[in-house]
Amino acid sequence: MAYSMGEFLAHAIAMEREAAERYLELADMMEAHNNLEVSGLFRDMVRYSTMHGDSIVARAGSMELPKLRSWQYRWIAPTEVGEEDGFDYRLKPYQALEYARVNEQRAAEFYQAAADAASDPEVRKLALEFAAEEREHTAALDRKLAATLRS
Ligand code: ZN
Repeated sequence: MAYSMGEFLAHAIAMEREAAERYLELADMMEAHNNLEVSGLFRDMVRYSTMHGDSIVARAGSMELPKLRSWQYRWIAPTEVGEEDGFDYRLKPYQALEYARVNEQRAAEFYQAAADAASDPEVRKLALEFAAEEREHTAALDRKLAATLRS
């Protein structure tokens, strides 16, 4: 689908806001598990998502943005995590990391597809930038996953 700049920015803002909220929940949960390392990573992700969201809002300026349906940007739970609404508070650190990874990957794919389909070169440029950023997040989660026990 070839998004207009407004549609693209609306998706990007909603996705970053959603990511910030979910990361905050995950960070709190990991803190409750006394896993401060994973909690710290999620808090960093809250900060990046918030900063990124704010910079996209600033870029949108006074542009009129379309309203989106929640399924267009909400995070999804991978089947092995279960729970369609919200989190299972018994989530283990590696499950929380995998959960976040699924959604970062999904965001990267969304941006890449938007770039591939774009007819507006500005949309294409931004979408490629955002896709690269999401791939970095995915890689950061992969590094943490490699260092986290699956138990
Ligand atoms: Zn991300």
